[in-house]
Amino acid sequence: MELKVVSTASGKRIRPDSPTPDLIAWTMDHFQNQRLAMTTSFGMEGCALIDMYASLGKPLTVIYLDTMFFFPETYALRDEMIERYPHVDFVNRGTDLTAEQQAEKFGDELWKTNPDQCCKIRKVDPMHQVLLDVDVWITALRRSQSITRAHLKVVEWDWQYQLLKVSPLAAWEREDVWKYIQENNVPYNKLHEQGYPTVGCTHCTSKVEGSKPGEYSRSGRWKEFNKTECGLHGDGI
Ligand code: SF4
Repeated sequence: MELKVVSTASGKRIRPDSPTPDLIAWTMDHFQNQRLAMTTSFGMEGCALIDMYASLGKPLTVIYLDTMFFFPETYALRDEMIERYPHVDFVNRGTDLTAEQQAEKFGDELWKTNPDQCCKIRKVDPMHQVLLDVDVWITALRRSQSITRAHLKVVEWDWQYQLLKVSPLAAWEREDVWKYIQENNVPYNKLHEQGYPTVGCTHCTSKVEGSKPGEYSRSGRWKEFNKTECGLHGDGI
């Protein structure tokens, strides 16, 4: 499904190439009576998008999946975001399976032997449960993040999860996101300044020498494997 030209409550006409603030306001106007939620892993894009939606001052649910393997900097960022946006409801829907229980059931250090299974247990399955309760899913994905995201539409029907997926930053570049973060004083993960272009679980995230916060790369993720995505967005994304 592609976004057709539609009118918002304010009378503005919305197209896929409408300015991002208009798309964001449209999401809230158009789907206010639906089960609408944003998901985030507290990446730079997610933090920027939360700020954009939060600036409307309307209630918003933001769901994250605590894998129990976050960096301390990520937990600190989560706490900062909760404090900064008190009208946003941050909800953890991560797995209850502890690291010890996982090791007992699936073997030690599953992320080293079968990261796809580990991601399925700690990310994909919990996300599937989350999205059973959602009609409109807001994501901070961008097309230029990877080849698998290159065809992302601003608004599209997600066949895997059977819901409407809205990605207002689809056409943004990383440098635009970094500029927004700086200009609006949005909290971000301090690891971005220490050579981590993206930040996931401690076990599967490495430094990328010479990387800068305004440059995106997934080369620091699952370095030992031919894997760049956790599978949350279907088609290997
Ligand atoms: S990123 Fe690594 S540790 Fe985290 S869920 Fe996936 S495989 Fe497991």
